[in-house]
Order: sequence, then structure tokens, then C-alpha cells
Amino acid sequence: MTKVLVPTVCPYCGAGCGFFVSVERGKAVGMEYMPGHPVSEGALCSKGNAALEFLRHQDRLTTPLRRRGEGFARISWEEALGLIARGLGDVIRRDGPGGVAFLASSKCTNEENYLIEKLARLLGTPHVDNCARLCHAPSVVGLNRTLGAAGMTNPIPDIASSRCIFIIGSNLAENHPVIARWVHRAHDDGAVVIVADPRETHTSWVADLFLQLTPGTDVALLSGMAHVIIKEGLIDGDYIARNTSGFEALRESVKDSSPERISEITGVSPDDIVRAARAYASSPASSILYSMGITQHSTGTDNVQAISNLALITGHLGRPGTGVMPLRGQNNVQGACDMGALAEFYPGYRRADDPETIGYFSSAWGVPALPKGPGLTAAEMIGAAASGDIRAMYIVGEDPANSDPSSQNVHRALEGLDLLVVQDIFMTATAKLADVVLPGAAWAEKEGSFTNTERRVQWSSKAIDPPGSALSDLETLCMVGRALGLEFAYPDAASVLEEINRTVPSYAGITRDRLRESSLIWPCPTTDHPGTPILHSAGFKLAGGRASIVPVSYRPAAEGASWDYPFILTTGRVAVHHNAGSMTRRSPSLLRREPDLYVEINTADALRLRVADGDEVIVTTPRGETEAYARLTEGVKTGVVFMPFHFPGTNLLTTEATDPEARIPEFKVSACKIVRRD
Ligand code: SF4
Repeated sequence: MTKVLVPTVCPYCGAGCGFFVSVERGKAVGMEYMPGHPVSEGALCSKGNAALEFLRHQDRLTTPLRRRGEGFARISWEEALGLIARGLGDVIRRDGPGGVAFLASSKCTNEENYLIEKLARLLGTPHVDNCARLCHAPSVVGLNRTLGAAGMTNPIPDIASSRCIFIIGSNLAENHPVIARWVHRAHDDGAVVIVADPRETHTSWVADLFLQLTPGTDVALLSGMAHVIIKEGLIDGDYIARNTSGFEALRESVKDSSPERISEITGVSPDDIVRAARAYASSPASSILYSMGITQHSTGTDNVQAISNLALITGHLGRPGTGVMPLRGQNNVQGACDMGALAEFYPGYRRADDPETIGYFSSAWGVPALPKGPGLTAAEMIGAAASGDIRAMYIVGEDPANSDPSSQNVHRALEGLDLLVVQDIFMTATAKLADVVLPGAAWAEKEGSFTNTERRVQWSSKAIDPPGSALSDLETLCMVGRALGLEFAYPDAASVLEEINRTVPSYAGITRDRLRESSLIWPCPTTDHPGTPILHSAGFKLAGGRASIVPVSYRPAAEGASWDYPFILTTGRVAVHHNAGSMTRRSPSLLRREPDLYVEINTADALRLRVADGDEVIVTTPRGETEAYARLTEGVKTGVVFMPFHFPGTNLLTTEATDPEARIPEFKVSACKIVRRD
């Protein structure tokens, strides 16, 4: 029997590793590595290696469902489409289009995300967002403001030519293991690696200098480093003069951020702050890698801007081995944002509050009017659902009932809607609350493009059919659009990409035929353009071609430890699970290795709490409580505890405090108490 090798993109993290699905008689029988892939070079991490395991899991949704009493009944696609069209129509007629909200998915293709935001806006609602709101919204706001582009500035393989790599708020050895290989390569070649994190992690083990800061004090640490760099004359004055504005204001804002003062805030020694500043500023090519340890704070946008400031005052941008590298969590979170599945942007980061944007897309889409934004963000939608301002939600491939903070409030808000439609591959916690559930196709069961964290657009081909009567999200969205009276006549992903070529300038030259030959890194403005691996080598797309240095001041996290809640809970990921865990907890080889929710507690704290390793404990915050196993460690400081967020329970505890601009919840800092379960 002939075996066919189908090229696909890993469904998990933003590294965007490639591999072949091996197909025989229409079934996925294995995978083969892709040695020629520019990022993964034939490597995959434990999650990538297990990617086929959930495809035929017994929990896959195979048919549309409608709520009946406490359970669900199987229905036809025709009946499902009728229910959705009537339900959305009723809400729009009664409450106006603003009574409806859409959540797009960073697990879906670019083409699918483009159609989700287009469907929402053609229906007249500005309320469309995606889970970037929970991970990298501050990167979108902060990098657009400071550098004029919301993407990683340099390609992943470029990390190998860095001479100093500053990793802050990222445990990439577990979360982006294949990117970590490039850090190791640079380190083996003599690069200095600095890691700043509240926890000792697999990433910090490789560091030459480890800065174990108190959760929520990143702006202070970065300001302290800027203080040292300016005071010791380690700035790149020529670069600042030619390429930036705002330096004097930064100099003024960090003048009191001496290492001694910053040490009191962050818990990092003054000497280490000075060492880190000198190493980063004086190397010939330094890069900064960061992730959700930076963004998931009520100061997330400030954190990102403080990172840009460091790169700008030292001139570590626009050259190989330099750059600002936000490591995206999901495989298409970059693409979902590029496609305008965001409350404040239409496709191509055109501002939703700009009349020119509205005019442009009205003309491009052939409609007389479109809603002006910004719409409600993902977290704001939940609040509006709770207050009755949003009456219907359409959620594609997201699980807010599990992944949003204070998840018990999310449950209540979603339960109270007149209509909740969920399109997914599994019966997630959110799908269990839905009125209509539509079965989706997983990544290997459909085709389309994905954009990884370095802006690399890749084509992923269809390897196998989805189970039962499940359909790709693109097919479903077209059917829903037509049921609502819209002209949604797209025969395939390529036809949507052709429209994206016309409406998103940085994707203008990215066609399916070119992607089948090789990946392309945006901006790629014409069909003969090779793509742009390094941004900002010839100035910035901001006023006067200059980047903006934006001074920021340290603000404490929204919640601090108190008498009642004496610990700071911080959350994150582990190597074998991903996000809300809907796929990895259905992959036996991964679940076996990390089957239960746990909480890391410092051994000294555990002694005081009379908790032994493996004991069941109850973790409580002002929002709620959850049970977990204690894992004793020296890797978190006293007074700090850590829980992975892949299991139901963790987000019962997290705070709803958000960044005032990017509206990302502060998943990384919640006050809690712990008692042993007797
Ligand atoms: Fe998949 Fe990310 Fe692992 Fe690569 S590093 S195999 S993209 S999970």
C-alpha cells in the first residue's frame, strides 16, 4: 500500500515546527520528521511527537449537537444552521448587532480567522477577539507603539548568532523546546545567557546569570538595567540619535532606579542587576526573548515597552543576532492577530476606530457600512454577558470556561446567554454550556496557512478526513454566513488567502502556490518579494521613521500578599501540556507523564504549613478554591507558589485584574492561602 507523506505544521506552540503525517488508506499511521524545516530542522518536542494521539480520541465531536435538558441531542447540519441563524437573528433584531460577540481561535488557520472577523463585522458587531488577549495582547499594543510592528523582530534561527540572550518571563525550555535548541546552540558557541524569572526552571538551568525576581516586578528590573546602562555610558548614542525619539524622558524616568533601590523591589541583588545590564548592553549582538511571564500582568503593556526601551537605547535591533522576540504560545496566535480577529484592529492592524479603515473595508467587502471599534475584548465580552449587554456568543476553538480568570464567573455568564454556539473538536468546558455545538476538523484534517511566532507563514496540507460529519471551520463559517444571508462563497482556503492578499499589505505576496514551495516571513508585499526575516533594519514604520522610547514607571501588581492570603500564586505551563489541555490531556503519552494538578511550594513554607511532598492541599483565593497535590521544591522562593494552568481548577483562583490598555488578565500574580487537606 502506498504511503503518502503530507506536510503539516505542529498544532501546539508558536514555534511552528513542521513534520509529515504519514497516511495509508486514508488513515494517519505515523509521522516523519522534516529535516529541511528552517526552525525545527527535523526536531520535535514531546508535544509535537504526540500530536497524532488525540486525532481519533473517543471524545472527538462527530456531529452537530443541540442542548436538550441537561444533555445534548444529535442534530443535522441543516437543523444546526437553522438554530444559529434564527438565534443570532433574534438577538440582532431585538438588541442590535452589538448584542452578539465572536471569539476567534489562534488554533485556526489564517483563512478561518479572517472569515470569523469578517462574519462578525458583516453582521454589524465590533465585538470580535481571540485568545491573544490572554497571552500577547500587550505585545500587540506595546510593540506597535514603540517599534511600529507587532511581531518578533528577528527569525528564530537568528538566535544562534546572538552573543547575549536575555530571557525574561519565559520558560522556553518547556514551552517552546525547539526554540530553546537555538539558545543552546548560541550558548555552546560562547553566548552569555541571562534568565529572569520568579521560578527556577529548565530554562534557568542553562543561564550564566539567573535573576530570580519577585512576581510582578519586571518593570522595576528593566528600569534598573536601563539606569545602569545610561549611567555607565553603555548606550548606543548614534543609534538613539538616528532612530529614536523619547530618550531624554526615559533618562529622567529611570534616574532614581538605582540597583540598590530596584533590589529592594525585585529581590534581585544589586550586583546581578549591574552584571545583567553590562552583559546585555556591551555585547556586539544581544536579543531579548520573552513570553507570558511578561505579558500576563496588569502591567503587561508597560513590561513590553520597557523591553523595547532596553533594545532601543543599546541599538540591539535591525541586525542579525539582535531583536525583541515575543514567543507566542499557540501555533497561530500571530496569524489570528494579523487577520484582525482583535477588538481594536481590522485585518493588517488597521485601527478599528479609524474612519479610513471602515471606508477601506466597506469598499473591499462591498458593503455600505461596517461597525467602528474598538469592540469588547475577550474578558470584556464575558463581563458584558454577565451584565446582559451581550446576549449571544459564537466561540470557535476557545475554552474561556477553563482558560479565563475567575472561571466560575465565566460559567455563570455563559449560562445566562440567549444563544451560545461553540465550534470545537472536543466537548470542552465551554462547549458543555452551549446551546449548539458544531464539530470541527483538527489541523491535519484541513488545509490552510499558519503564521508562527517569527511571522513565518506556512501552508499546512490536509492529511486525513475529519471524523463523522465534522467539517473544517472554514466550511462551517461559509455555511453559517450563507444561512445568515451573506455572500460567503469561498470554495477553499486558497480563495480566502487571495482576498487576504488584497486586503492585508504584509501578506500581499503570500500565495498558496508560493507557500507550497517554502514558507515566507511577512512583510511580503509582492509575489516576487522574498519576505522580511529581520524588521527595522532600515528604520521604523512610525512618525519620522523613528521608534518611540516610552518611559514607564513601576506599579505593583493588583494583588499583594496579605494576612489572610499570605502567598503569591503564579501560573504557567509545563513541558507535556498545552494551554487549557483539551488536546494534551487526551494524549495518553503526555497525560501519563503529568496526570494531575499540582502546586509547587518552597520546602521552608511547606514545613510551616505541615505539608509533605505529594499531600493533597486546598489552594484558596478571594475568588474560590481548588485541590492540588503539593510538590515541594527550592525552585520557587518562599512566599511564592506555582500552579500549571492546563487543568480545570487553576483559573478558579486567578484574579480578574487586567492591564488597562491591553486588557489582559493578571494570571501571573494572585494572592492565595494553602492548607493541607485532612
Ligand atoms: Fe510543536 Fe512547539 Fe514542540 Fe515545535 S516546540 S514540536 S511547535 S509544541
